Amino acid sequence: MQDNKKEKLFLRLKQYMEIEGVSRYEDEVVAALKENTKDANVEYSRDRMGSLIMTKKDHHSGPKIMLAAHMDEVGFAVLDILDNGQVRVVTIGGVWPNVVIGTKAKIITSTNKELYGIFGHTSIHILEREKREKSVNIKDLFVDFGFKDKKEAQSQGIEPGDRIYMHGETFKLFNPDLVVGKAMDNRAGVTVIDQIINRLKDEKLPNQPYFVGTVQEEVGTRGAKTSVSMIEPDIAFAIDTGASHDTYGAITGVPKLGAGVAINMQDMETMMHPKLVNVLVDLAKKHNIPVYKYVAQGGGTDAAELQYAKGGAFTVCLSIPQRYLHSPLGVASLSDMEALINLMVEFLKVFDQKMLDSIKYQ
Ligand SMILES: [Zn+2]
Repeated sequence: MQDNKKEKLFLRLKQYMEIEGVSRYEDEVVAALKENTKDANVEYSRDRMGSLIMTKKDHHSGPKIMLAAHMDEVGFAVLDILDNGQVRVVTIGGVWPNVVIGTKAKIITSTNKELYGIFGHTSIHILEREKREKSVNIKDLFVDFGFKDKKEAQSQGIEPGDRIYMHGETFKLFNPDLVVGKAMDNRAGVTVIDQIINRLKDEKLPNQPYFVGTVQEEVGTRGAKTSVSMIEPDIAFAIDTGASHDTYGAITGVPKLGAGVAINMQDMETMMHPKLVNVLVDLAKKHNIPVYKYVAQGGGTDAAELQYAKGGAFTVCLSIPQRYLHSPLGVASLSDMEALINLMVEFLKVFDQKMLDSIKYQ
């Protein structure tokens, strides 16, 4: 990939990662997606859960193809305020509390007041010996905003349910293909959808694409459920980040950074459509796009809901491998994202009724 193209992709990803949007608060991602695709000949609608559905103007025939990327990120919500003014939390989505202790936290209240704090812990000097060996449980986690007592916290508008964000800076590693940032899961997928829309803006496609930013994936693929019920696609792709196995001590597994598009063959909830996978692999070969297959050893994606479109949809999950999922800093590869963009662009250019018929059950 050329350097200037890569830099543009990086800047777009950075913009999306730096938006704060836990499940149920995805509106800023929606606004950015709309702004960034406003010249790309798409029309917008929202379902009543909040998912953003983008359709291509003047495309009313051919297979319905849904590409879904969830817009929400994991985080925390206020559970209650302790008498000493510190705040206990619950997780929004799956977060291992150990990854946040000692890092910066940000609360956004119901009146949009923003304050910074720390995911607190006991200093090692005064930590009981047996606790040093143990991992931190969510029940022990708290956030310290520096309030002197509960009353002061309340006077600042802190209430149960207020959302609390992890804080992660965006930067590149020694290998500039590897980008670090907050909410890589799944703003990397959102960036991919944005780029596919923009690159296809002047193309007349033999299908009806539905580009969807789904809500509330991290709390149970909820937005995919409602949006797929409205669209009733023939074909559905979930575009999401997935665990990369290329770090010290990780269980062995196939996905790694920089090797291209990781085609998820199955996870705990979804088994991908083999003929649709073959179509993708053939296309990738033809266009020299790096792809490989793997079986996910944990986690699930929007694909779990997409497959249950009315009468079923031929479904595949396409994954962007990521290190340090659901923590303040995730790492992904720009060239993996570029490979996924290219694969989907080529797919949408050619996938017509005849190709759909060729993968249908007889
Ligand atoms: Zn995700």
